Amino acid sequence: MAKHQKIIIAIDGFAATGKSSIAKRLSNSLNYIHIDSGSMYRAATLFALRLDSKNKLNPKKIIQSLSEIKIEFKTIKEKQLIFLNNENVSYEIRKPYVTNQVSKLAKIPELRSYLVKKQKEFGKNKGIIMDGRDIGTIVFPEAECKFFLVANVEVRAKRRYFEQQSKDNKETYEKVLKSLIKRDKLDTDRISSPLMKAKGALKIDVSDLTLDEVYDKMLSYIKKKLNKH
Ligand code: C5P
Repeated sequence: MAKHQKIIIAIDGFAATGKSSIAKRLSNSLNYIHIDSGSMYRAATLFALRLDSKNKLNPKKIIQSLSEIKIEFKTIKEKQLIFLNNENVSYEIRKPYVTNQVSKLAKIPELRSYLVKKQKEFGKNKGIIMDGRDIGTIVFPEAECKFFLVANVEVRAKRRYFEQQSKDNKETYEKVLKSLIKRDKLDTDRISSPLMKAKGALKIDVSDLTLDEVYDKMLSYIKKKLNKH
């Protein structure tokens, strides 16, 4: 596939639809960079929570401190890790206390502009797959290939719940479901870059599909797009 000209692939969709896992697999097959933009919002949330001794979000303080947020991705032993001001926060940002605050922080337009600027820089040489909520609409509206993943919220909650079973920060199924419903609402109702299907994006309902099936569907669509370039 290397003979093709590199393109930009944007994957948007609801939480726990498998966007990042599939994007990672696709990036390996295509030899593309993968950026999980959600992890950048999570790292910024961790930074913001640490600004307050009681772990409360203070939008004014966050806006004033934006230039102090340095986010980097590094691949170590074939694993992509995210660093916040030189600290590996890949594990910490997946904990419920971060997950349950991130959509509140992601509403702040100044923070979004700060992160979007960085995300655009990652894509300047193309050959990138980025997943998130506003990639096909705001970050790379020019992307040659766009996807929008949706799934029934119970299916997504079950998926997230089972994923958590192997980790030490488990929540009950009811808590996971409640948190997803709240996050969906905040992400779709916000004024600044709400979650929505980008123009020209291929919508896939993954509720009844396995990750392998979604991957195959997406790869064959990408191949068609690559043949046009
Ligand atoms: O993808 P993930 O679930 O890790 O994203 C965490 C949160 O970050 C989302 O619920 C959303 O509030 C925010 N986000 C965003 N825009 C993106 C990616 C994530 O607002 N491009």
